[in-house]
Amino acid sequence: MRLSRQRRMVLELLWTEKSHLSARDIFEQLNSQGRNIGHTSVYQNLEALQSAGVIECLDKASGRLYGYRSDPHSHLTCLESGAIHDLDVVLPNELVSQIEALTGFEIESYTLQLSGRRRA
Ligand SMILES: [Zn+2]
Repeated sequence: MRLSRQRRMVLELLWTEKSHLSARDIFEQLNSQGRNIGHTSVYQNLEALQSAGVIECLDKASGRLYGYRSDPHSHLTCLESGAIHDLDVVLPNELVSQIEALTGFEIESYTLQLSGRRRA
């Protein structure tokens, strides 16, 4: 895909932050860094990057969040802060085989949604 200057700014921010941000977060952070970009432009670039499969998009009750990874991965949500961390979880082969036997499906990929609190 064509990487305009603005599209690159949005992508670079996601790569640097390595977290899941809303269009508003991205707009505010870019502008506080002195980068001149409008809210609509941020939104349009995020949608374009997402439909090209370059970034991920999570639909949360509080709104849409964007992340820098587009490969399948798992998420750990902090129940205190709501922050979402990317995780790579590899299930034991034995468990995947059990799920396949149970469902009659050949599992090709999976993502886990985990949530919890930091241990004191
Ligand atoms: Zn993610």
